[in-house]
Parts: sequence; C-alpha cells; structure tokens
Amino acid sequence: MTLKLFNTLTRKKEEFKPIKPGHVGFYSCGPTVYNFAHIGNLRAYLFNDTLKRILLFNGLKVKHVMNYTDVGHMTSDEDEGDDKMEKGARREGKTVWEVAQFYIDAFNHDVELLNIIPANIRCRATEHIKDQIDLITKLERNGLTYKTSTGVYFDTSKFEDYGKMARLSLDDLKAGARIDVDEEKKHPRDFLLWAFTVGKNKNHIMHWDSPWGDGFPGWHIECSAMSSHYLGEHIDIHTGGIDHIPVHHTNEIAQSEGAFQHQWVNYWLHSEFLILDKDKMAKSGENFITLKTLTDKGYDPLAYRYFCLNTHYRMKLSFSFENLDGAVNGYNNLIQKVRELKSQSQGEQIQINAPYHQQFLDAVNDDLNTPKALAVLWTVLKGEKLSAGEKLALANKFDEVLGLRLADIKQEEQGELDAESQALFNQRVLARKNKDFKESDRLRDLLKEKGILVEDTKDGQKWKKLS
Ligand code: AMP
Ligand code: ZN
Repeated sequence: MTLKLFNTLTRKKEEFKPIKPGHVGFYSCGPTVYNFAHIGNLRAYLFNDTLKRILLFNGLKVKHVMNYTDVGHMTSDEDEGDDKMEKGARREGKTVWEVAQFYIDAFNHDVELLNIIPANIRCRATEHIKDQIDLITKLERNGLTYKTSTGVYFDTSKFEDYGKMARLSLDDLKAGARIDVDEEKKHPRDFLLWAFTVGKNKNHIMHWDSPWGDGFPGWHIECSAMSSHYLGEHIDIHTGGIDHIPVHHTNEIAQSEGAFQHQWVNYWLHSEFLILDKDKMAKSGENFITLKTLTDKGYDPLAYRYFCLNTHYRMKLSFSFENLDGAVNGYNNLIQKVRELKSQSQGEQIQINAPYHQQFLDAVNDDLNTPKALAVLWTVLKGEKLSAGEKLALANKFDEVLGLRLADIKQEEQGELDAESQALFNQRVLARKNKDFKESDRLRDLLKEKGILVEDTKDGQKWKKLS
C-alpha cells in the first residue's frame, strides 16, 4: 500500500508523492519559547515525530526543519495583547534572551525524554531577521503590502485565494472586525509583517533596523522565511496543530504564495487537540500540565507517548489521569512482554515475518493509523504461531515508528546462569531450532543435573532453578 496522508488543503486522504523522488522537505511550526511546553503541545510534536518516522520507515530521506518562535509576539493571533516573551521575562526577572534559551533547553529535554527525533534543522526567528526582511521586500515589490503608522501590513484583499485552505467565509472574515482595534488597517484580516517600535510597541525589547524603520517582524513571516531558506520555495509537507489553520497557516500561505507566485506546500497536515475536561489545555492555570508534572507523579514519559499513539492524530484526545493510567497498564504489559521475549529468544537472529510487517505498514500508511498499528503489534505478541525471536524482531522493527525504545528494555530479571549452564542453554536453543530433539533432550537432562529446569513454552524455552 502506498502512503496516504489527509491533506487539509483538499480535506481528503491523498497518495503522498514527493517533489523530488525519495526525498521529503518537511516543515513544522515549533514552540513559542516563553514558557514550558504543556502535554497538549507535546502531543503535536509527537504527531510530527510519528509522521517523520513513517516517512523514514517507507525508505524516504527526510529533511525536517522546525522553528523556535523567540521574537516577542502578542498573546492573541490577531497581533493584539501583551508581548509573550516580555511577559515571560517580567515574570521570571530574566532578559528575553535568557527566557528564550531557558525554554528552548527545556523543550529539548522533553524531546529527549519522549524519544522524539530532533528536527534536522532547528532555527530561531531572531537569527533569520534578514530572511524575513527579504521576504517582506518581495511582497512589497509584488504590490501586496501597505504601510500604516504602526507597521507594514499584508493586504489580504490583493491576494485572491486568501483563506482558501481554512475555507474562511465572508462571515468569518467579517467576524474579525469585532476584535480589531487598529483603525488604519484596511481590512480586519490584514496582518502585520513588520511592526514599528512606536506607540504601544515603543519599548519593545527585541528590535532591528529595516528598510521601513526600526521594529520587529510579525509572527507569521518567520515560518515563510525560514522554511524557504532551508527547504526552497516548494515544500512537500507542512504541519501544525489545527488551531493554526484559520490564522497562522492561512497567513503563511498568503505570504509565501504572494512572494513566490506559485503553490508553496503540497501537503498540509494538522493534529487535533489534547483536551482536559472538555477544555483546551491552556498555558496558564490548573490546566497547565507539563511532562515534568507527569514524571513528578512517577509516570514514564514513554507511557505518555504510548497514550498518544492509542488515538489517531486527527481525533481529539481527552486527558485525565484515569485515562493515562489505562494507557500505563497497556504500556507496562508491553514492556513485560518484551522483557520475557528477550530472555526466551536468547539473541536468536530471526528474519522479519513479511505478512505481519505488511499489516503494520498498511496501518501506518493509512494516514498514520497508530491505534491500528498498535493492534497489529499486540496480535503479534499474543499470537501462538511465531517464536519469541520472530516476535521480538517484529516488535523492534515496528518500534522504528512507535519510538518506545523497546531495544533498550533489559531482559527479564531472572538472576544469572553460570557460564557453563548458559552455554548449555544456548546450545539447546540452537538444537531446537534445528529440530534436533534428541540433542535438546540430552541438554535438558544435563541442565537438570545442574539443578536447572528448562521448560518449552510457545514463546521459546524458559529456565528456573530447582529448589
Ligand atoms: P505554541 O507553543 O503555543 O505555538 O504551540 C505549539 C504547538 O502546540 C502548536 O502546533 C499548537 O497547535 C499545538 N497545541 C497547542 N495547544 C494544544 C493542545 N491543547 N493540544 C494539542 N496541541 C496543541
Ligand atoms: Zn508557523
């Protein structure tokens, strides 16, 4: 089966065809680094990671770029409210630069604990100011901008397909007018490309010189500028959470296609929210649960990964400790099963069972159906037909997508056999593999004389010391 992905542009599952055969250019919107990521944010990054692992599993080479939003932006998507970075700095008595570095490090720590493969390129908005200025210059040249006393705006009325991906209606666009306060804006949906350090932004801490005056870039422009800097002007895949569809990604498309004058991204994928008591997880108040909240309560970060894998990325996932505990049980059973298989298989080298491998591939290639993929894993582990070695080989292979670090699980703690008994035990594994039952019986007797009882189970041979 070919890889199919649900494309937000068309609202359909489409066969994935890379622009350059065998290669994928992949951009995902990264964290705003003024606070810790909450476990809802982390669900979005686990989704990116699963997508990337599936692309790799299909033999594709992936160049993954992710940004850190470290320029201060407003707390609302509509360029209003407080500056997030400055708010963080005031709260913590640090400089905005220290705040950014601290939360970048904290984010990377979570990435490591969740076994997320880091993006090939992680870039900071503040290190790409020139790219952003160059892109605004292109938009200006293409007649898509206008200047007010507060900044340079994107003129959405000049961009024919504005809001196409989000399927924004005229009503949606008018709705923006109610929250709009900048009277100089021609249209409520027009958005800032470059803000001047005037008025309420007079003392903005992060600011740079530009052809239009001293100021700082708008939020959306950084993703258009950095993605094209690293991946070129035509990208295979762009991802983010569903909240990005109506504003951030709508504006990214307007800027990029307005500048390049052609389609920019082929496949847009968006992940659903993690919800808490029917609310969205927020970066403040009691709803703010971080990975550290979980580890402080004794949860393994990979159990959270397993919890997320159990729900399809386009479905809402309801978080409660009760729900998480359910996943923890499943995760612990998996660890225990793998541990047993490791001691039973004794490092047997086994080929991958092709039909099960295909079933797993079909599941993940059907728009990342991870719940189904986990069901295939459990069918393999619980089945009667495969040997311990065959099961383990499949589990390790599947883990390339699941990312549960199954290879790191230690063998079942059984105590150790002395070297001579271990050698006899290993010989017996080989004898049974070769169906030399006479030899395996002889070895069993020898081990019994040494006080070790060997049992043959459906998952291979197990030993225990006779008391
Ligand atoms: P931010 O750091 O606020 O820019 O958010 C980082 C990512 O997390 C974005 O892709 C958001 O769409 C996503 N996100 C925010 N809240 C949630 C949530 N409750 N559940 C899942 N994803 C979320
Ligand atoms: Zn973005």
